[in-house]
Amino acid sequence: MKAIQVHETGGPEALRYEEIAVPQPGPGQALVRLHSIGVNFIDVYFRIGLYKAEAPFTPAMEGAGVVEAVGADVTHVKVGDRVAYAMCRGSYAECAVVPAWQLVPLPEPLSYEQGAAAMLQGMTAHYLARSTFALKAGDTCLGHAAAGGVGLLLVQMAKICGARVIGTTGTAEKAARAKAAGADEVILYNEQDFAAEAKRMTGGKGVDVVYDSVGASTFEKSLDSLMPRGMMVSYGNASGAVPPVAPLVLNQKGSLFLTRPTLAHYCADRAELEQRAGEVMGWIASGQLRLTLEHSYPLAEAAQAHRDLEARKTMGKLLLRP
Ligand code: NDP
Repeated sequence: MKAIQVHETGGPEALRYEEIAVPQPGPGQALVRLHSIGVNFIDVYFRIGLYKAEAPFTPAMEGAGVVEAVGADVTHVKVGDRVAYAMCRGSYAECAVVPAWQLVPLPEPLSYEQGAAAMLQGMTAHYLARSTFALKAGDTCLGHAAAGGVGLLLVQMAKICGARVIGTTGTAEKAARAKAAGADEVILYNEQDFAAEAKRMTGGKGVDVVYDSVGASTFEKSLDSLMPRGMMVSYGNASGAVPPVAPLVLNQKGSLFLTRPTLAHYCADRAELEQRAGEVMGWIASGQLRLTLEHSYPLAEAAQAHRDLEARKTMGKLLLRP
């Protein structure tokens, strides 16, 4: 089968399109023939070596397709099922082996593209808005990169939860997109001091929670945007990893809470996965949650997808076609 392989970490050129053997499912695993593959920023972290994997490896953590074979002791799926998954590495390929418990049924109204777009970013936005800081009416949140893959979904979910949503984006075009998704206000954080703006927009009080996916370049000001006892949710490193933080800083800036969550710990078992994925897919099927699927590339052009994502050229989801 064709797959993208990384032999040495580095730039987008490290993503090599090669012929490799079809992997075989072991006990508890299923082989999925992928129809659509999700691109996520975490794929960049593995490609550059910020997150570690033993080379050679096939990157990427998300896809949708059909179960083609199952190993021993598989109970959750059978051959022929339409499925989607996230957080199992190896999806830049025509087929992937995935622990069967991580596969969720793809309901009939949803396309493979929707399935591959919903799982990782959808469940991330879901746990951020529903679990890490469970938003409710009266809360104000600040979400960075609000026109990105997670960003546009988080804006919509925060509105579903009843919160007031302030977004940040790099361009006016992206700001318009975040507003169309439901953001109440958008700050152009390359031009404006977003902490001062967030304070101004909340009458000097600060926001209840910041969802920060940008990392190094926004961390400090994100803390400054919070109200006393607010929560800083640092969930990504698009601009680089956040350097070490002294706990005393949290005291000085208002007895703040700081967490650095990952989806893996918020989809820890089958029950939680079914609940989260089920709610996300249900919202998509009912039209309450809209996916933005404007960037689609052949699998062979995964490197171009990474270039566009890292150059901040994209809005919403990027998909690959195997
Ligand atoms: P996005 O579509 O959001 O793309 C990244 C966006 O970040 C860009 O479009 C850009 O938006 C903004 N950005 C700001 N600074 C930079 C920079 N220096 N380089 C590149 N982009 C920058 O990607 P994803 O939706 O895939 O992921 C968003 C973030 O969420 C990532 O940090 C990712 O790691 C994280 N994430 C974390 C998860 C978790 O469980 N912890 C799970 C899933 C994603 P703009 O132009 O508006 O500034």
